[in-house]
Amino acid sequence: MKKGQEQKSSNNGESRGGSGRRLAAVIVLLLLIGIFWFVVTDNPQVSRVRDNMLSHLSSGDAEDPGAETGDSSTGSGDTGSGTDSGVSGAGTSGNVTVLNSNDLPEFNGKNYVTVNNNIPAFPDDVYQRAGFTTEGQTAGSSGNGSGLVSEQGNYWKIKNKELTPYEFYDALDDLGRCKAAYGCLGEETMPESGTQRGDISRIHPSGWAKAQHWERCHLIAWALSDENANEGNLITGTHYLNHDGMRPLEEEVEHYIWNTGNHVLYLSRPIYAGDELIARGVQMVARSVEDNGKGISFNVYMFNVTPGAEINYFNGVVTTREQAEQEAREYVINTRSGVFHYPTCEGAQSIYKKNRKEVTATRKELTDQGYIPCGYCEP
Ligand SMILES: [Zn+2]
Repeated sequence: MKKGQEQKSSNNGESRGGSGRRLAAVIVLLLLIGIFWFVVTDNPQVSRVRDNMLSHLSSGDAEDPGAETGDSSTGSGDTGSGTDSGVSGAGTSGNVTVLNSNDLPEFNGKNYVTVNNNIPAFPDDVYQRAGFTTEGQTAGSSGNGSGLVSEQGNYWKIKNKELTPYEFYDALDDLGRCKAAYGCLGEETMPESGTQRGDISRIHPSGWAKAQHWERCHLIAWALSDENANEGNLITGTHYLNHDGMRPLEEEVEHYIWNTGNHVLYLSRPIYAGDELIARGVQMVARSVEDNGKGISFNVYMFNVTPGAEINYFNGVVTTREQAEQEAREYVINTRSGVFHYPTCEGAQSIYKKNRKEVTATRKELTDQGYIPCGYCEP
């Protein structure tokens, strides 16, 4: 009996040890299955996280200041027009030092990037026409972010508090394109209340194409300038630029002026790539004068795009996602994750060679084969 008990207890001991080992084995197995699933799954959210990890491992640099503030699994599609400087997606840092027409920032799902860290800087002429002076200032003496250092690096100040409200529209260039529109805006430049906006349909801005959903986009909003059919103030713009991009800032300035009676130095400048007739985007710079930029202060580049559509900036033809699906073009496939990208996507550039496949196909052919569009470049 005693022996049996001993035997039994010893058996029990063994069986406890055995179940512990089995449990550990199951946990290890589950972990392995989990890791395997993470490596091979086609779940786009997971594969995006994975591609991100791989691209960081392979590129090995920690550039990209200010990026990665958001949850990377949410990807792009963040078209909110908030004023935070967070960056969605890869590719741009969310700020550019200067706008170079040979190297413009790429649209990444957010309708603007800041310029010069969002500190306003205007051409000298903008200050000069408003009655500012450089007298008594040493050029470049102030890099203090006060917003009164011009693009040319001169430091301006108001002369005897005398301010000249005005609007100025550059003449069209040789290609018939709008250049900059700027002014010192205030109640003086705005339409009187009760005024109706006039007809602008006779203006055909450069690159205008019919039936492509283009809008005549004011460089300086009618509500700020009382300008109607002024060809120097109207560009070919997408609804996304006009309505989602520029309008919130224009309304901010309008409300500020009505509420304070103050003035705002204001510049709106279409930026073209080479000889294209339609602007890739519009730089908007504004700074309130009487309160030294406390009320209004921004320097941004707004994208003239329609998310999901391709635009020919020479002739104004817009190709929607549906049409693009029918046209063969180049894609890069990550054969391991099954995700496909536009060749320009950062995600495409970071794919390991052995997993990388370049194809010419229609989008539909790829999705029919089970490939998944990248969440960043949204091919
Ligand atoms: Zn991509």
